[in-house]
Amino acid sequence: MTETGLENPHDFGRAFRALQLTCERALGSPLYREQPSNLRLASMEDFQKLPLTKRQDLQRVGIHGTRAVPLEEVCHYGETSGTTGASNSTWLTAGDFARNAQAIAVRHPDIFAPGRIIMNRFPFMSAPAHLIQLIAQQGAGVSIPAGNINWDVPFPRALDLARRTGAQVLAGFPFEPIILAKLAQARGLDPAKDLALDTFFLGGSPLPPVLQRRIEKIWNARVIELYGSTETMLLGTGCCERSLHLEIDHAYCEILRLDSEEYADVGEVGRLIVTTLGIEGSPLIRFDTGDRVRRLPPCACGDPRPAIVVLGRDGDEVKLGGSQFYSYEIIEAAAAAADAIDSSVFFTVVLPDRLLVRIEAEFADPAPAYTALRHHLRDVKVEIECVAPDMVLDTETLSRSPSVYKPVLISDWRGPERHILSIDQGMIEWPALGFAEAGRWLNRIWKKALTRRRLKQKIRVAKRRGE
Ligand SMILES: [Zn+2]
Repeated sequence: MTETGLENPHDFGRAFRALQLTCERALGSPLYREQPSNLRLASMEDFQKLPLTKRQDLQRVGIHGTRAVPLEEVCHYGETSGTTGASNSTWLTAGDFARNAQAIAVRHPDIFAPGRIIMNRFPFMSAPAHLIQLIAQQGAGVSIPAGNINWDVPFPRALDLARRTGAQVLAGFPFEPIILAKLAQARGLDPAKDLALDTFFLGGSPLPPVLQRRIEKIWNARVIELYGSTETMLLGTGCCERSLHLEIDHAYCEILRLDSEEYADVGEVGRLIVTTLGIEGSPLIRFDTGDRVRRLPPCACGDPRPAIVVLGRDGDEVKLGGSQFYSYEIIEAAAAAADAIDSSVFFTVVLPDRLLVRIEAEFADPAPAYTALRHHLRDVKVEIECVAPDMVLDTETLSRSPSVYKPVLISDWRGPERHILSIDQGMIEWPALGFAEAGRWLNRIWKKALTRRRLKQKIRVAKRRGE
């Protein structure tokens, strides 16, 4: 590895030429055209002198500010979910998508291949949903567009689709396999035996190895991680050693120290800075992704490309006891605790004085879970609550998801069809719970309300003591 970014050490010249090309392209966008820095690179030093592009810079230039090509050349608009308030805009060409899709398919020929059926559970607004479709269109599989944030494909229907089609791959969010496995088990199925899924291609939230192993065990399948962002598109995918390798031909990555512009060492947490190499629509130069990552030592799989762990977003850190934790670390600890008592279903609650981990494992001895939590979170005060089935993930009501229809404008009450009075009623039919089901559901609501009251009471007492 050189002293600079994370380029291919064997092809430094190629990386530099790619950076030159990105800088030339970027001059087409208001974001960079109006910037005083010199984007005509003569050397790598010129590149390293360029200022970082911050999220605020993207927001300042407005919706078309990052677009470097005429609208006629664009085929896709995307924006970040804007959970923190403002959202960033990105404009992509058909070529941008084609390059990303091909990169994924070429990297994983055993997952994406002709005739392999892929359940595409990524939501429609997210770029991976479209990449999976494109991978299939390029000849590397058969995609079922079954986005999960979509009422016409709720979890039970997704499970049915996977079973009936014999899908081998499921692409989606990291917790999706856990939910589907629980639904399958609730129906008396064994996920490992009764479904053909052999690979989960997952991204969008932390996916620590302990969670990967858990999913692999329940499903007798592999897990491959996908990493990217709306602004930069594809940044990396996982390998057989469960490491996330950066796609350095598509993104020039730098990991800077948290408090300076120096490069972070292996093992050190740093800021991930990305210069896009394969994007014509909205190229970005030294973009501060806001992601906190840790560089890993050379991977045992033999892939020379650098590998990282994505810990979370800047500002998402949680203070517990005297230490800061990233969302990845909390999920890793909780997943390990659940795994220690042979459960996959957990939920964490950050309380003023401790971390509460709720695990679906009724009657389990929590001692091994406490040991696992302490191993990961050291001296943080923790509490484990082992709860009954369906108290954390309610498959019974999840299975009774509403039926969704096309909008209708006429309802004929003379026949046995549904008697509806409005468009919204016509689109959705909420299931009616049976007496026993309703009783169990109310019981779970009641128990959760008790837990909530107990926790709030404790917080009040703790606050009073602190005054
Ligand atoms: Zn590897």
